[in-house]
Amino acid sequence: MSTDAAALSFDPCDPVAVAQALIRCPSVTPEDGGALGVLEAALAPLGFVCHRLRFEEEGTAPVDNLYARLGTEGPNFCFAGHTDVVPPGELKGWSIDPFAAEIHNGRLYGRGAVDMKGAVAAFVAAAARHVKAAKETGGAPKGSISLLITGDEEGVAINGTRKVLDWMRANGETLDACVVGEPTNPKALGDMIKIGRRGSMTAFLTVYGAQGHVAYPHLADNPLPRLARMLAAITAEPLDAGTPHFQPSNLELTTIDVGNPAHNVIPALGRATLNIRFNDLHTADTLVAWLRERFDRVGGTYELDHFVSGDSFLTPPGPLTELVAEAAERVTGRRPDYSTTGGTSDARFIKNFCPVVEFGLVGQTMHKVDEHTTLDDLTRLTDIYGEVLRTVFDRIG
Ligand SMILES: [Zn+2]
Repeated sequence: MSTDAAALSFDPCDPVAVAQALIRCPSVTPEDGGALGVLEAALAPLGFVCHRLRFEEEGTAPVDNLYARLGTEGPNFCFAGHTDVVPPGELKGWSIDPFAAEIHNGRLYGRGAVDMKGAVAAFVAAAARHVKAAKETGGAPKGSISLLITGDEEGVAINGTRKVLDWMRANGETLDACVVGEPTNPKALGDMIKIGRRGSMTAFLTVYGAQGHVAYPHLADNPLPRLARMLAAITAEPLDAGTPHFQPSNLELTTIDVGNPAHNVIPALGRATLNIRFNDLHTADTLVAWLRERFDRVGGTYELDHFVSGDSFLTPPGPLTELVAEAAERVTGRRPDYSTTGGTSDARFIKNFCPVVEFGLVGQTMHKVDEHTTLDDLTRLTDIYGEVLRTVFDRIG
């Protein structure tokens, strides 16, 4: 155990107390601020074996991560999340100290309350209750429960979940199912489970010609009509009409640049940039081929570069999605929608290891001033995670 794992001054079965202890650690990404020590102090006495994993890469700040596992048997059910938070911004915008974790009118305030120290605390409390209940009946919990907690989700995400997963692979650690505690509910707890995300790719097109005088076009080669025809070709029709769990893919031109200040010069080249948010009908490779096919039809010399922020992925409705939805419905009375909307999360790395879904608190105040969760939501999310732990080992692995 690390030295900042202070003696436990809170009950790990109480999600509000755990959330307060976490919020009081000023873990603005990539600082840990003592947050992982709070988790170790809560988990180790329950029997979790805690691995503190520090990664750094040239040009990036070192980041602390935690992999904690209870049990050695399979299946291994994992909760993934992050304890780093975005900066509070201008303090005068807050009506309450963002790191004081104060409670007012049934709400817990603080940076990270919903994104996502609250959900981490709810899972810790659910796990603590689960272990306690198993002990009371004289048994040990089935399978293994693990937590993969990173301090690098809100930042560049280089020294976080991805590297913990590499470490796990190298050490023979396998996962059978994972729930990520991102705030997925738009308005009320029980609204939405994320079962995948769209992919995102940005492409850079440069079309080459030969510079010359506008009055002597036979001595030049204007690249702009070709650029215009290429862009017309890729925007003429939609990429697809959507799939059962995804909205239609979308291509947006984000800039067209020639930067030619002269009215009498044919430019040597023209550039355009575009971004594609794509569903499970495509990969970055098939999209590049799709673009090239259309550009080749126009012809001429061009260059196409691209980078991929993430491929699309889907955990098709099945045992994991179903048991999380049932747990949410039992506690909240609402049947969550399955959705693939929104930005990226670390689920994009975990999906290469096991089925993964995302379910956490209500996202309305995430990254905003006066970020808060209701105590009621925190309590009910703990109950939902508890239901997941109660049912998951009979239904996965
Ligand atoms: Zn988050």
